[in-house]
Amino acid sequence: MKVPKQMKRLCPKCKKHTPHKVSQAKRKGLNATHHQTWGSRKRQSLRNRGVGIGMGNRGRFSRKAITKFKMTGKKLTKKTDFRYECGECKYVSVQATGMRLKKVEIQ
Ligand SMILES: [Zn+2]
Repeated sequence: MKVPKQMKRLCPKCKKHTPHKVSQAKRKGLNATHHQTWGSRKRQSLRNRGVGIGMGNRGRFSRKAITKFKMTGKKLTKKTDFRYECGECKYVSVQATGMRLKKVEIQ
């Protein structure tokens, strides 16, 4: 998808339409994600040591634990994460919901 470098959007701070600069934030990998998230390395190492996380059945599920850190059913595309910077007040707003795109061109 081709995305224009600059587009007119509503700035929530200025409360009017102003030209915004479009940039894409880098999607964070598995290591950068939070240690409490499902499938994080820390969580997995705790589970391997027998230290349960959470309540009830200590974070165990009816299926086998993930031993390899390969996402099963890996998706071919990444979701976009656009940042819109207001040209007047420099306020950066984040894209509400990303789209799954194979290729993104900011021009
Ligand atoms: Zn603004």
